[in-house]
Amino acid sequence: ADPINDVEQEVKEWARLKKMEIDDLKKQEKFRRDFLSNISHEFKTPLFAIQGYIEALQDDDLEDKDLAHQFLNKASKNVDRLSYLIKDLDEISKLESGEIPINYTKFRINDLVKEVMDSLEFKASQHNIKMIFKQKYDEGIFVNADRQKIQQVLVNLIDNSFKYGKDGGSTAISIFTLHDQVLVEVTDDGIGIEEKFLPRLFERFFRTDTSRSRQIGGSGLGLAIVKHIIEAHQQTINVRSTEGLGSTFGFTLQKAKQSLPFPNIPALKS
Ligand code: ADP
Repeated sequence: ADPINDVEQEVKEWARLKKMEIDDLKKQEKFRRDFLSNISHEFKTPLFAIQGYIEALQDDDLEDKDLAHQFLNKASKNVDRLSYLIKDLDEISKLESGEIPINYTKFRINDLVKEVMDSLEFKASQHNIKMIFKQKYDEGIFVNADRQKIQQVLVNLIDNSFKYGKDGGSTAISIFTLHDQVLVEVTDDGIGIEEKFLPRLFERFFRTDTSRSRQIGGSGLGLAIVKHIIEAHQQTINVRSTEGLGSTFGFTLQKAKQSLPFPNIPALKS
């Protein structure tokens, strides 16, 4: 054995680990910087718009009541956009800090899907989109999950299917049972997503550069929230899409064991 060589190896190994640590910290730092610059950018757009409409309304020459009304409406839409952004930011930071734990309960996934569909019925009609529930088992399948958070996942995915859907099109929600999981899919026949964007779709603030997503201007956080919730359940989410034809977002859930009608029969002593 060569003690000098051993020490040299140890020092090299130590330096390698330190370098990895530093690289990791640098990456985190860059991530934080990007996140903050994204947030300020996202806030600027609606704020500047509101400022513009207020200035126009302050203009003494503005006598056209209809125009004034339109400006107020537009300012109000931008205020809504800021509120959504704050709500989503609050949600994602809570999720990421682990502040809101996953609260598992056993419930029928079919019931939850129906509930969410009912709550979105009016919005669907505003977009002229028909919702279709494709279920094989009427009685419903039990899953083990955080009901409220999965409700949010469904709302975000179905809401996206309206935003990026087709006028007069449809959104199908399907439930499939796998071995010990349930697969829930939300399928639209809308604008679809270019293949090159698919791997980045669930990143915070990521939007495909179609004019449609810029125009619609959501928070860009909906899918990041969805992914977070599903991964916190140790389940998976994925997307497949064909540009111009539509997209399918699918996520899995843990199937719950159906309880027996008399679960507490004590074992007989032999
Ligand atoms: P946003 O608030 O922009 O909708 P999301 O995180 O929900 O943010 O979605 C990110 C981006 O993914 C959207 O801006 C859009 O470009 C794309 N996207 C999401 N859902 C769909 C869909 N069903 N069809 C086509 N594109 C979609």
